[in-house]
Amino acid sequence: MLSLKKSLRAKFTLVLFLVGLVPLGATSLFFYYTAKDALFKNVFKELKWNADEISGIVESHFSEAGKDLRIASENTAFKMYFLDNANKKMWVKEQQKTLAHLRSVYPDSIDEACFIESTGQEISRIVLDKLAHEHELSSDEDRSEFFRQAFLLNEDEVYQGRPMLSEDTKRWVIPNATPIVVNGKKAAILHFEVTMNYFQRLLKKLVNPDRGYGFILNDEGAFMAHTNMELGEREPFPQAITPETPAALASIFKRMLNNESGIEQFSTGGKDYYIIFKPVNTSYNRGRNDNRWTIGYVIPSERVYVELAILRYNIMALIFTALFIIVLAYTLGNYVTRPIRELARATRKVAGGELPKIEVKSNDEIGQLSESFKVMVEAVTRRDEALKALAVTDGLTGLYNHRFFKAELDRQVKGALRFARPVSLMMADVDYFKHYNDTNGHSLGDVALKSIAGILRRSTREVDVAARYGGEEFVVILPDTSIDGAMIAAERIRKKVEEENIPNRETQPGGKVTLSIGVATLPDNVMDAQALIEAADKALYQAKEAGRNRVVAARAEG
Ligand code: GH3
Ligand code: MG
Ligand code: MG
Repeated sequence: MLSLKKSLRAKFTLVLFLVGLVPLGATSLFFYYTAKDALFKNVFKELKWNADEISGIVESHFSEAGKDLRIASENTAFKMYFLDNANKKMWVKEQQKTLAHLRSVYPDSIDEACFIESTGQEISRIVLDKLAHEHELSSDEDRSEFFRQAFLLNEDEVYQGRPMLSEDTKRWVIPNATPIVVNGKKAAILHFEVTMNYFQRLLKKLVNPDRGYGFILNDEGAFMAHTNMELGEREPFPQAITPETPAALASIFKRMLNNESGIEQFSTGGKDYYIIFKPVNTSYNRGRNDNRWTIGYVIPSERVYVELAILRYNIMALIFTALFIIVLAYTLGNYVTRPIRELARATRKVAGGELPKIEVKSNDEIGQLSESFKVMVEAVTRRDEALKALAVTDGLTGLYNHRFFKAELDRQVKGALRFARPVSLMMADVDYFKHYNDTNGHSLGDVALKSIAGILRRSTREVDVAARYGGEEFVVILPDTSIDGAMIAAERIRKKVEEENIPNRETQPGGKVTLSIGVATLPDNVMDAQALIEAADKALYQAKEAGRNRVVAARAEG
C-alpha cells in the first residue's frame, strides 16, 4: 500500500471511507441496538397488552353478568309472586319476560336462566330460547349445594360458582345466582348459567394464532380455555401439568397457581418461547366468585428473532455497501491518478535524458496537464535535434564538420571490417585557393567554398558522408564502395567543379576553379581509419604534384 502522504489514491480511499463507511457504520450500529431494544420492548408491550386485554374482558364479563343479574332481580315480578297470591300466573309471565330479556342480552353466553324457590322448585325457566311450561318445571336437586351457598348471600349480592355440567344442555357452565328476599326472608333465587364455551371462543377471538397461543388456568391447574384445544363442551377440563409437561413450563404453571404474574422465557421441543401470565381479578364482584383464574399468553421467541434477523440482514447489506464504496474509492482513485502517475514517470524519463511520447487520453485538468507536458516535450525534442545538428554541421558550408567526420569514419571503418565490406575515402583540396583569395577577397572565397560544398552534397549518395575537413579541404566517406567506384565518383565531382561557373573564376590559373582529389580504400590500401586518411592525403599530394585538377588513387600497399 502506498503511503498516505504520497498517494492521491490512498487519500481518495480514505476520504470516501470516512465520508461513506464511518457514518454508515455508526448509524447502523446505533440503529441496530436501538431497534433491537425497541423490538423487544414492543414484543413485551404487545404481550402485556394482550394479557391485559384478555384478563380485562374476562373480569368485566363476570362483573357485567353479576350486575345484570342483580338488575333483573330488582323486577317486582319475583317478589310479587310471593306477595300477590291471586295473580301468581301473571307474575310468572312477567318473570318469563325478564328471563327472556336477560338471555337476549347474552345470546352467546347464557344457555339457561331460571327462578327457583327456596325448596329447589323451579317457578319459571328459559333454556336457550325455550320458555318452560308449568308441567316441565321441576326441582333442581343437582344444584342444591350451589343454591345452599347462594342463599347464604345478601339480597344485593351475586354468587358465581365453579364450572358444572348443565343438567339441561349437558354443557359446562358457570352458575350465577342472587337471592330474592321477601319480608326479610330469602324466599327464592334468580339464577342463570354462563357457558364455558363462551370463554373458549372469547380467547380464540383475542389471540392471533399466527403470533402465539393463550390459555386460562384455574386454581386447580386445569385449562378452562385454550386456543390450541377444544374445551368448554362436554369433556372434562384437562390438567395443565402432565408428566409430558416440560419442567420449565410446569414451574411457570405452578407460579401461576400461586397467583403470580410475570414474563418468562422457556424452551420446549428445541424452541424458545416467551410467556406472560397474570391472575384474573374476579373478586371485586359484590358477592362471591369461586373461579380463581390466571391467563397465560405465549409467543415463540423466533417471532422476535425473525425481526431481529431482518434487522441483521439490513445491516449486513449496509456493510457490503460500505465495502463496495471502498473498492469503488480505490478504483476511482486509481483511475483518476493513473494519468498523473504516467506523467510523473514521463517527467523522470525527461530528466534522465529521454524524450518519451506522451499520450493524452482525457480532456479534464489532468488531460490538459498531459497536453502541456506533451507540447513541452515536443519543443524540447525539436531543440535537441537542432542542437545536435548544429554540433555536427560546418557553419560556412552546411556540410558535416571535422569532428563528426572523424567519428563517422571510425564507425564506418569498424562496420566495414566486421562485415568485410569496402569503404572508400576521398580527400579534395581547392587548387591555388590562396591566389583566389588574394585576387577576389576572402568573402568571395567563402562564396566559392559554398558552391563547391553544394556540388559535393549534390553529387554524393544519401549514405555518403561529405564533410569539410578544414580550410579549403573536403572529405567524402563512401560506404560499401570499392576503389573503382570511388574513383568514378571523385572524377564526377572534379568535373562538375571545373565546369561550375564560380564568380571570377577566370582570374584563376587555367581560368577556372578546380579541385585535386586523392582517393584511398579499405581494406585495399589500409586497415584503419587514421591510415585511410593518410593514404587519401598522400594521393591528394600526388594529385597536386602531378599538376592539379585531377584524381589520384592511393597505391595498393602491402
Ligand atoms: P595549392 O594548389 O597548393 O593547394 O595552393 P593553395 O593556394 O590552395 O595553397 P594552400 O592550400 O596553402 O592555401 C590555402 C588557402 O586557402 C589559404 C587561405 O587563404 C585559404 N583559405 C583557407 N580557409 C579559408 C576560408 O575559410 N575562406 C577563405 N576565403 N579562404 C580560406
Ligand atoms: Mg589546402
Ligand atoms: Mg589548396
